[in-house]
Amino acid sequence: MKTADMKLDGNAIGGLLIELFGTDMTASMGVCATCGAEGQVARLDVYVHAPGVVARCRTCGSVMMRIVRSETRTWLDMSGTRTIEIAVDSLLE
Ligand SMILES: [Zn+2]
Repeated sequence: MKTADMKLDGNAIGGLLIELFGTDMTASMGVCATCGAEGQVARLDVYVHAPGVVARCRTCGSVMMRIVRSETRTWLDMSGTRTIEIAVDSLLE
């Protein structure tokens, strides 16, 4: 893959996800809407140099999250994620 040198994992967007969700999401389990694979957010393939941030399923390569930020707002597309599981105690910091 030509862009392999730009590929990171889900830990690269850990800080961004804390801003958006108010908790550490890297250990959360997400299910890919395309192939049904389940895995930790930390294990997604992340590309930060796409327009915005793109997180892809490590199993099928489909986009599971797309995050685009401007000065005044954040646009979050989770249509590629069927479900995401967030531990309750992680919300109570
Ligand atoms: Zn998938």
